Parts: sequence; C-alpha cells; structure tokens
Amino acid sequence: MSNFMIKGQVIDFPDAQTIRHHKKGAIVVSPQGKIIWSGASRKLPKQHAKLNVLDHGEKLVMPGFIDPHIHFPQYRMLAAPGKDLLDWLNRFTFPEEALFKNEDHAVRAAKIFLSMLLANGTTSASAFCSSHVQSVDALFSIAAQFGMCMIAGKTMMDSNAPDDVRDTAQQSYDDSVTLIERWHGNDRLQYAITPRFAVTSSPEQLRLAGVLLKDNPDMIMQTHLSENHDEITTVAKQFPQARDYTDVYDSFGLLGKTSLFGHGIHLSQDEKARLAETQSRIIHCPTSNTFLGSGLFDLNAAKTAGMKVGLATDVGGGTSYSMFKTMGEAYKVAMLSGYKPPVSELLHMATLGNAQCLNIDESTGSFDEGKWADIIVLDPQATHTQRFRQQLSTDITDTLFSLITLADDRSIMATYVAGKRKYRAG
Ligand SMILES: [Zn+2]
Repeated sequence: MSNFMIKGQVIDFPDAQTIRHHKKGAIVVSPQGKIIWSGASRKLPKQHAKLNVLDHGEKLVMPGFIDPHIHFPQYRMLAAPGKDLLDWLNRFTFPEEALFKNEDHAVRAAKIFLSMLLANGTTSASAFCSSHVQSVDALFSIAAQFGMCMIAGKTMMDSNAPDDVRDTAQQSYDDSVTLIERWHGNDRLQYAITPRFAVTSSPEQLRLAGVLLKDNPDMIMQTHLSENHDEITTVAKQFPQARDYTDVYDSFGLLGKTSLFGHGIHLSQDEKARLAETQSRIIHCPTSNTFLGSGLFDLNAAKTAGMKVGLATDVGGGTSYSMFKTMGEAYKVAMLSGYKPPVSELLHMATLGNAQCLNIDESTGSFDEGKWADIIVLDPQATHTQRFRQQLSTDITDTLFSLITLADDRSIMATYVAGKRKYRAG
C-alpha cells in the first residue's frame, strides 16, 4: 500500500465567497485515506511525481457533500402527500418508523439509505434514527463498513405519538446512554442526542436530554424548531411557562455550539438573537419546507442576525437525497426573500460550512492537508440539458451555478470515502 493521486479539475470552498479552483489539479492521498497534498498539478512536490494516478480529466473533483439533517427511517417515504407537518407525521411517518423495531428491516434499510447517500455524493451526515435502539445499531454498523463519518441518534419521543414509536423519558435516557457507550467515537461514528421536537417530548424527557448534553458537552444534539405554525401553537400550549419555542429548549440547557435545530423558519428577533448568542446551528431544509408548505426560510436575515446556518435535505420530508437539488431549492427560496446567494456560498454550505456546523471541519469538508479524502467526481455534462447549457458557460462560477440548478445524482461519477471508492456510476 502506498500513496496515490487523484487528478481532475480540483475545486473546494474555503469560505462562502471563495471558489478554490485548479483546472489541472491533483490530490495526493495516503493509504490510510488522508489528504497529504492538494493543489495545481504543476506545483506537485517532486516526491509525489511517480505515484499511481486516477485521472478524471476534465471532470470536477470536489469535497463530498455533508447532510446535517436527514431521517434514516424515512429512506423510502419521500413524496408522501401530507396536508402539513403534523398530518404528514401521523399518517405516513410514524407507521413507517414503527417498522424499525425489526432488526432485519433496519439493516436492510441502512444499506439502502447509505448507498443512496453515496450515489448522491454525500459522504457524511447527521441522521435521526427511529425511537428503537435497533435502528441506531443498524445505521452505525453499516456506516462503519462504509468508513463514513456518521452522526446519529435514537429519536427520543415519549408524547403525542403512537405506542409503537413512543418510548418513556427514562427509557430514552437509558437507551441513549447504552448507545453512547456502544458507538460514540468508534471509527468515524458519533452519537447525537436526538429529542425529535418539543411536541413529542414531555418536560421530563427534555430535562433528561439536557442531562445527557451536560454529561457529554462535545456531543451533537439535534432536534426541530419552528417549522410550522400549528407546531408552534401546539408547543406554546404544552409549555405555557416558556417565553417562546426556542426558550423551551433553552430552559432545558439544549442550546449551544453542538446543537442543531432543523428549520427555524418562523423565529422572532429575540429567538434569533438567543440562538446566535449561544452559537446554536440552524439547519435550513428548503425542499422539505416548500413540499410541506411550512414556510420560506430567510437565509439573509438569519445571517444578519449572526446565526450559523447549515443546509440539509431533511429526507423524507425533503424531496431529494441530492444536495444539488437542495442547493437549487435554497437558491429559489432565498430569491423569494430578495436575496441572491452566490454559488460559492451554497457550495460552501453543502461542504465545509456544514462540516463547521457539525464541528467536524478539522477532519472533512475541504481538501486541506490532514483531512480525510472524502471526494466526489462530477460530470457537469451528465444530461442533455446540462450538455447544452455548458455550451454557454464561460467560467467555473457559471458552470457551478448551472450544476446547482440542473444537476442531481446523474452527475455523480464516483464517490470516495476516506480515499476508498465506494460508489461509481454505471
Ligand atoms: Zn427533520
């Protein structure tokens, strides 16, 4: 085993304004799957001159996508026609999640789910499992086989849900402790404390989620916040002492720089300020928000308020595993609020920005030396529409812009996880 080299048009996004592009670029990868060097081929240090080369020619070589909010048990229920969030949960989501009590079902689903991520160029994710321990065991065991960075947790849910997906506050705490001991820190796996949202948790369950976070201050906590107006009204009734929805989580110690809040569409200025002050992460899920009619997230206002924002699919409320489709929808939703995000900002969000939200940016998200070689190879002319569109592209910015609007999994030629090719088109 020795070092090897991947060549192509090497592109990554060190910040929201910058496209780092080497038309003839190279990435040197160690046998362990770490990036040793990346840059323009003509600047390749002499000691790497004779390595084995995987040459992708004119194809684009980019960091793997990172999906910071996705539901593993919803892997096959995209496009379920709910009236709104709460109707969609009750009619479609809970019955499907109940199947994950069965270990065989969970393992079969994990293989499909993770294969779908890789086929869409997603190499890392933060995932909600079902309320069953079996779902977490299945996802982590298959993710470890694939060598993926996977953050996931058992959904804590003791209220307002059917018996077969509901736990108790104490059971959810005990299960979480068991799963943390079993999985957290193994390979590239991290446990996430995962109360579904305030509607499906008792005060005692949220208190215990806060205890778990206090005992594990570097651990990701993931939940939902302010997605839909009926949800907000329900939460206000369930937690009458709270100032607002954000204050429900705040009062149980659940805000902070390892906390991920899906959606955050209808936040007040006070809530935005508190989330920014605590460095909590808001995860924008545009295809889900438009599909369920939840509302239009104001990306620019969130940034102006100082909030750190990630970008995610929210499969299966979201309508695509593709981060291209997600970026395209984020662009449209931002345009409707009068903000035109540059393509560098959206691609940064989908890669290094999401890594920053998950606090994994020291190990993935860009091609800096020392990171894992999580790499995707893209064909910007994968479809007829893209091929004709590329005839008009004059520079890399325009090529990338057309990709976020037109591309999907058909543009993914190969996906490497820690230097190993785990997916190839065709
Ligand atoms: Zn979600």
